[in-house]
Amino acid sequence: MGRHFLLFMVAGVVLGFVLGALFPSFSLSFAVVGEFFLKALKMVVLPLIVVSIAGAILNMESIERFKRIGLRALLYYTTTTALAVLTGLLVVVLFKPGIGVSLSGGEVKVKEVAFSFKELLLSLIPENFFKALVNFNVLAVIVATILFSLAVLSVEWRRELLLKQVIAELDASLMKLTSWIIKTAPVGVCSLIAGKIASLGGASALKPILYSLSKYVLTVLTGLSIHALITLPLLYLLFTRKNPYSLIAKVRDALITAFATASSSATLPITITVATDAGIKRQVAQFTLPLGATVNMDGTALYEAVAAVFLAQAYGIELSLPQYLVIFLTATLAAIGAAGIPEAGLITMVLVLESVGIPVEGIGIILAVDWFLDRCRTAINVLGDIIGAAIISASLEEEEK
Ligand code: ASP
Repeated sequence: MGRHFLLFMVAGVVLGFVLGALFPSFSLSFAVVGEFFLKALKMVVLPLIVVSIAGAILNMESIERFKRIGLRALLYYTTTTALAVLTGLLVVVLFKPGIGVSLSGGEVKVKEVAFSFKELLLSLIPENFFKALVNFNVLAVIVATILFSLAVLSVEWRRELLLKQVIAELDASLMKLTSWIIKTAPVGVCSLIAGKIASLGGASALKPILYSLSKYVLTVLTGLSIHALITLPLLYLLFTRKNPYSLIAKVRDALITAFATASSSATLPITITVATDAGIKRQVAQFTLPLGATVNMDGTALYEAVAAVFLAQAYGIELSLPQYLVIFLTATLAAIGAAGIPEAGLITMVLVLESVGIPVEGIGIILAVDWFLDRCRTAINVLGDIIGAAIISASLEEEEK
C-alpha cells in the first residue's frame, strides 16, 4: 500500500477524533459506517483462519517442519509475554498511579465477568466444530484445524493432494476479498473512532474521564511504548540484524486498524496482508499470525499487570513479593485466555484480581478509560504477532541457506 494510502489512514484517524468530538449527536450515523467495515472484516476472518492454518500446515510437507515452526512460535510467545508483564510491573511499581485515587467506580456484577482457568482449558477443544465457528470461538477453531491438518499430513497419500489445491484457491480468493476491504479502511477507521468518541459524549465528556485517571493511563501508555519501541525492536534486531522501525513503518496499516477496531481477530486479514507484503514468509505468516492473534497478547498482558497493581494501590493493599509472582503468572494466563475482541482483557482480568484478593468491583473504576487503553493494547498485540512472525521467518531462511 502506497504513501497516499497512509495519508488517508492517518487523515481517517484524525478526522475520526475531530468529528466525534464536535458532533456527539451523530454517534449512531458514524457508527453505522464503521459497522460495515467491521462486519466485512469479521466476515472473512474465520474462513481465513481455517484456510490459512490448514494451507500453511499442508505446505509444510512434514510434521518435523510443523514442530520447528510451532516450537519457535511457542518460545517467542512465552518470552515476549513474560517481558511485557515484567515491563508492566516495573512501570506500575515506579509510577504508583493508584496512590490517592478515589474508589467511586461503577458497579460491576462479578457473575457477568466470571472467567476461570478451567474454562480456558476446556474451551480449547470444540465438541462441535460448527458450533465453535458459529460462536466465534477462535481458539477452538484453531485447535481443531491444526489437529485435522496434521492428520491429513500424516496419511500416506499416493497422489498429489487435491485438498491442497482447493485450499490454495480459497486462500487466494479470500486474500483478494481482503484487499477490497482494505481499500475502505480509511473511511472505516474514521467512522469507528468518530462513533466511539461521539457515543461517549464528544469533547466535553472526554476530558474529565481521561483526566481523573490520567496517571493510570500514562502508566499503561509508558509500558506499552517501552515494549513496542524498545523491547520488541531489540529482539527483532538481535535475530534478524535488520532495522525494526522500517518493519514497523511497513505494517502501520494493521496497527492503525487494530487501534480503530480494538480487535486483533478483526484486524487479522489486514495483518496477514501487510506482513506478507513486508517480506515475511507466507507459510510462517499464515500459520503464526492467526495463532498469535488469539494467544499472543503482549499489550494485554502488560495492561493486566498494571491494572491489577493499580487497583491494589488504590484499595491500599500491600502486595508481597510472592503476590507479585502470582500476578506475573496469572496476567500471562489471562492474556493467553483473552479472545481477540474488544475489552476481552477486562474480563479475563478477574482471574488476576481474584488470585491475589483484590476486589473485582475495582474493574468498575478503570472501565471509564478502557475503551481507549483497549485500542492501544490491541495495536501492541498485533505488533507483537508481526514481529514474532518476522523473527521466525528470518530464522527459517537462515537455516535453509
Ligand atoms: N482487544 C484486545 C485484542 O483484541 C484484547 C484485550 O481486550 O486486551 O487484542
